[in-house]
This record gives sequence, C-alpha cells and structure tokens, in this order.
Amino acid sequence: MRLPDQPSLRDYTDHLAGMAADGLAAIGDAPDLDALEAARVAFLGDRRGEILEFQRALGLLARDDKPEAGKRFNTVKRQLEQALAERHAELGRAGAGYHPPLDRTMPARPQWRGAKHPVTLVIEEIAAIFRELGFTIALGPEAEREWYNFTSLNFPADHPAMDMHDTLYVQDDVLLRTHTSPVQVRTLQRYAPPIRILAPGNVYRRDFFDASHAPMFAQIEGLCVDEGVSFVDLKATLGHFAQRFFGSARARFRPSFFPFTEPSAEMDIECQLCQGAGCAACKGTGWMEILGSGMVHPAVLEAAGIDSEKYTGWAFGMGPARIAQQRYGVGDIRVFYDSDVRFLEQITE
Ligand SMILES: [Zn+2]
Repeated sequence: MRLPDQPSLRDYTDHLAGMAADGLAAIGDAPDLDALEAARVAFLGDRRGEILEFQRALGLLARDDKPEAGKRFNTVKRQLEQALAERHAELGRAGAGYHPPLDRTMPARPQWRGAKHPVTLVIEEIAAIFRELGFTIALGPEAEREWYNFTSLNFPADHPAMDMHDTLYVQDDVLLRTHTSPVQVRTLQRYAPPIRILAPGNVYRRDFFDASHAPMFAQIEGLCVDEGVSFVDLKATLGHFAQRFFGSARARFRPSFFPFTEPSAEMDIECQLCQGAGCAACKGTGWMEILGSGMVHPAVLEAAGIDSEKYTGWAFGMGPARIAQQRYGVGDIRVFYDSDVRFLEQITE
C-alpha cells in the first residue's frame, strides 16, 4: 500500500508503523544470513528499500507536521537497523561450525603428480616387448669385478677396445661396470640353458658430458643361449623388436667388432626424424644406429662354464637414452639428466 500523493501526518505514521512491523517481522524471522540480507535490501536498501519512500515523503508533509514525522522516521529506521544487527549476531553464532554442502560440480584443485622418466618409459616398453618373446629381467652389480667386466668377456688386458672402457676403479679389482655384459656371465654361471634374459641397468664410462655422451647412462643387454641358436634367430628377433618398437621403420645390419661376440653386427633403423631422407641427426645417412649385437663368442661361454660345442647364443646391447632421443625428438641427451620438470612434463604417458 502506497502513501497518498499528499499524505497527512496520520497517513504517514500509519504507513510507517505498518512498514516497520513488516520489516521487523522479516528480519526477526530470517532463517539464515542470505534471507537476512534479502530483508535488509528490501527495507533498508539504498536503491529500493521501503524506507526510502518515507524519507522522500517527509518533504511532502505540511511544514508543522515535519518535526513529528521526522522523529518517528528516525525511530523506525533505528529499530530496523538494531533488529538487523541483533539477528545478524544470532545467525552468526548459530552458524559457527557450519559447513556449506559439498558441491560435487566444483572443479578439483589441480594436483601435481610425478611421472616416469622418459628413459624409464623406453626401458619398460622394450622389456614388455621382449617379455612376450620369453625374456625375463636379470640384474647385476654396478660395482663389478674386473674379471666379469673384461676378462670373462674376452677382453685381452692390452686390447684397444679397452680404451673405450676407461672407468673408475673402486679398488684394485673392483670398478664401476662399463657395460651390462657382465650380467651375461653371471647369469650363465648361475643358470643352465635355455636362457633368455634382458638386463637393464646403469653403466659408467670416462666420457665427457656433451650433446650425445654422458659419463653414466642406462644400457639394456639381451642374451639368448640354447641348443641350435643361430644368427637367423638374432636377426629375426631384433627385426621383430624394431618393427614393434619403431613401427614400420626398416632395419639393417652392418658388420662390426666386439670382443665378446663373433660375428658381430650393429643394427640401424631408418631415421625416425627424416624418414630416411637424411638430416642432421642421422648425419645425412638416413639411418640411426640403435644397438650392437652378435653371436656370443665361444670363449665367453667357456669362461662361464657353458659347453660351447653344445650351446650357442646371441646377445645385444642398446642405449635407451639414445632411443628415447629418437622417440621424443630430443636433440641434446643432457636434458634427460637435468631433471628439469618443464622438459620432463612434456613427455609423460
Ligand atoms: Zn635423419
């Protein structure tokens, strides 16, 4: 009910009393802070509060009525404000320990989750492929005896191949292994053929830390020893692996030399970066070397106590960091060792 255009004092005080009763009821009955705020806006709000009509109407009253009307106006306004403050305090006390209902649509806080290192991902993928072919994982010590690292693997003490294997000696006879091949001998000593193992692990060389070398790096060794094993098995198995791991890439074998295999071969795959066209990464050849392999030298089998007349075998070794470089298109091998999360989090699977 609105005030008449020319209200009398009676009109004014009646309407004011009605508005005050409504306002006090709305404030006193507000069930929560939201409802209280709505009541405040409805009655005391700066824009549309009901109190505003009475403030404006003061100017419409007869001059003699204004002091009385003004006094009542101020009383009502104070009452409403006081009631508001009291109810606010009541609801605040009641609301202590109050928790808003769980909003299941609210987006979760982002959580930082660790991830596997790219080199670890490559090792696991390689191991999974060879596991299907019947290979199990074998491990050996990183601080190795000279006999296992060199002598048993057919390295003569003065052989030029030793130059590539400069390493740190822990004691006279104990060194940081330069390859995972000692695991071959340890396995052959311990188990009887047939043997099919995959030996991943860290190895150490006296290399400079540059774009393609690191003084410590991971290697994966593979070994298969059984009766009647030939180079055909080597080629077929590694060819299958290349197909599985690199997709349709072509592979080729090149003659090579290692003291512990005879004959020896290096395997290349078509460069993944230029698809064989030739680029800086493959030095324009279109091929990338991924592993060294060969038939296990009879002297190695004999050193491990295996009858080399009865058994033959083949072995390979590869560097998962080099393969990860190809897989993820990484130019500098050092970023794998920097532990920079900005790089690593780009390669998480
Ligand atoms: Zn290339």
